[in-house]
Amino acid sequence: MKLSDIYKPSVPVLSFEVFPPKPDKPLETITDVIGGFKEYSPDFISVTYGAGGGTRSRTIEIASCIRKIHGMEPMAHLTCVGQTHQDVDLFLEELKEHKISNILALRGDPPRNNPNFDFSRGEFPYASDLISYIRKQRGNEFGIAAAAYVEGHQDCKYIDRDWENLKRKVDQGVDVLITQLFYDNRMFFHFRDTVRRMGIKVPIVPGIMPLFNGKQIYRIMTLCGASMPAKVMIMLDKYKDSEEDMYRAGVEYAVKQIQELMSEGVDGIHLELMNRLDLAKNVLGGLKMNRRCSS
Ligand SMILES: Cc1cc2nc3c(=O)[nH]c(=O)nc-3n(C[C@H](O)[C@H](O)[C@H](O)COP(=O)(O)OP(=O)(O)OC[C@H]3O[C@@H](n4cnc5c(N)ncnc54)[C@H](O)[C@@H]3O)c2cc1C
Repeated sequence: MKLSDIYKPSVPVLSFEVFPPKPDKPLETITDVIGGFKEYSPDFISVTYGAGGGTRSRTIEIASCIRKIHGMEPMAHLTCVGQTHQDVDLFLEELKEHKISNILALRGDPPRNNPNFDFSRGEFPYASDLISYIRKQRGNEFGIAAAAYVEGHQDCKYIDRDWENLKRKVDQGVDVLITQLFYDNRMFFHFRDTVRRMGIKVPIVPGIMPLFNGKQIYRIMTLCGASMPAKVMIMLDKYKDSEEDMYRAGVEYAVKQIQELMSEGVDGIHLELMNRLDLAKNVLGGLKMNRRCSS
């Protein structure tokens, strides 16, 4: 089922995100987790893609297994940094072979060993180039999601300019926007109101990653640049000596954050659960979400 059929008005969509295990780890480490996710009836599960194509075959393998073995809908992420048109053509063909109908089309980050990487020299400088290429080559064969940043993307000096770039990207044929994780719902509401006024009409789905330990919070702040509201900083300080209490407080925070977003009529929730079944159980259990089965 394509994204345009999944995101129906008035039915909030629940989706999960998983990432491929490291190459030296067996695939079962993730396929077993995915099997466990089925209990929560996500409308689809997306699989991340290593920038530069590092996880390419595993991304497809896992997405294919979501459909074939577990009977759920997959979405494959695809980054265009360092990719040629031919690489993308091959990837799309493989998706077709495996009956994977949805793509999260991304630019990707600079390679770790080259932080000053010049995107403009590649065949796809921006995600919008990838999206327009897929639409030109394959029409509406695939559902296409794209990334959005409620606090503006880190590379863009001016937040408004980032949102103008977002509008240009959506205009290339995006079906749904999924945001980078954030912890202050006011920022999401401001972002949503602003881009709606700019004419972005597609569903806008909050990406939520439950917090579960102190180290992870610092990693998020440094890697994604997501700002942490005072409530999270107080939580971090209060529970710094107890991993168990920190975990409980983090799950409670995620539950409250999602409840508030749902009460404001979001189009869906995209949960980044770090491949952890315990987080699905505790967060969705806290939300008491009894969902219809999509498969
Ligand atoms: C939900 C989600 C899932 C993700 N999954 C993955 C994953 O699986 N693998 C992975 O490697 N990364 C992933 N990322 C991270 C993403 O690849 C990075 O954030 C990357 O730096 C930007 O990707 P983008 O698609 O948003 O880029 P773009 O939309 O191309 O934007 C990148 C920057 O370029 C600017 N820009 C865009 N168009 C123009 C233009 N025409 N002129 C000038 N500036 C422009 C934007 O304002 C922005 O600052 C994910 C992010 C999100 C939010």
